[in-house]
Amino acid sequence: MLLLIPGPVQTRPEVRAAMAQDIAPWDRDFQRVYARIRERIVGVAGGTPGVHATLPLQGAGHFVSEAALRTFVAPGAKVLIPMNGAYAQRMARLAREAGRVVVELPLPDTRGATAADIMPALEADPAIGTVAMVFNETGSGIVNDANGIGDALRAAGKRLILDAVSAFGVLPFPLADHPECDVLVFTSGKCLEGMPGMGFAVARIDRAEACAGNAGSWSLDLSDVLANAKRSGWGSIRFTPPVQAIAAFDVALDLYDAEGGQKARLARYRANTDALYDGIVALGLKPYLAREQQGPVIVTIHQPTDPRFDLMDFVEALKRRGVLISNFYNTAAPTLRIGAIGAVTPDDIRRAVGAIGAALDDVLAKAA
Ligand SMILES: *Cc1c(COP(=O)(O)O)cnc(C)c1O
Repeated sequence: MLLLIPGPVQTRPEVRAAMAQDIAPWDRDFQRVYARIRERIVGVAGGTPGVHATLPLQGAGHFVSEAALRTFVAPGAKVLIPMNGAYAQRMARLAREAGRVVVELPLPDTRGATAADIMPALEADPAIGTVAMVFNETGSGIVNDANGIGDALRAAGKRLILDAVSAFGVLPFPLADHPECDVLVFTSGKCLEGMPGMGFAVARIDRAEACAGNAGSWSLDLSDVLANAKRSGWGSIRFTPPVQAIAAFDVALDLYDAEGGQKARLARYRANTDALYDGIVALGLKPYLAREQQGPVIVTIHQPTDPRFDLMDFVEALKRRGVLISNFYNTAAPTLRIGAIGAVTPDDIRRAVGAIGAALDDVLAKAA
């Protein structure tokens, strides 16, 4: 089966094989792996050792996102969120339910947000101290200009929280160049092609220390993750982590380095999205995004307007042809979501496009 969803992604056999062992989380050999992963992640983030630290948190991306919002936005404080996709909406809900005051900035979900979108809203309300935003919006495939927005926030003396869950390792945002960024978050199961199960925050150590006491939750307190590491070592854990997923992630990082790191992986994902976008157009389907707004992670496509088309039937028909895509959409208009990330190549994508054309024939003919 070819898994074409934007996480968890298709993985390499070496990564899956690393899971085939029993591991004690406090064992010294495992602690060495855990500490090494933290260092390697600061490197991938373009951070500065001693300034930035990796603060791991077990669970899905939402957990580490919530932890970042709770830790770096004080209770009752205002946070601006550019609302141009499903994951922005999720961030807003996480912040609101944690008791933070969310100022929503509505934007279209068909183009990336820029500093020109954000800054007037901040000027209009000086009480907003932090912007929380999604880097790659996995709902539609657009990329928000995190680097440009970060630069503008730095100049304005504001802070940034970045959901880089579907961007980290592929879209560059070098933390050393972005001191305005308190924290970015990502997970093990997306562009770094590991197993799902682990979230990671990469945060400024000074800010994480200054924010101690904000979280209002022990399990979701990134300041406490840092305090624990300083007290007990970078290989130490607070609560049981998914040890096999972590062991696999170390191998996934080896493969990332061997491929050539960020530039090489971005090039492969871009080649994947290009093959997908071109293939879809050749099938007569209509991409949701204009070409210049199309990011390198997920392609969304307008569902065929033929009344005989049914998404569930189509996803099942495609699965019978060996390709699995999302069976839901979260764009403003009905779409198909097809991931272009994971251990897949443009050849895989071209094979998938052939299957998509055939599955479309299957469902329309069957319904006829
Ligand atoms: C995948 C993703 C998340 C987290 O999703 P989980 O299902 O909680 O792992 C958050 N933000 C973005 C942009 C994502 O793509």
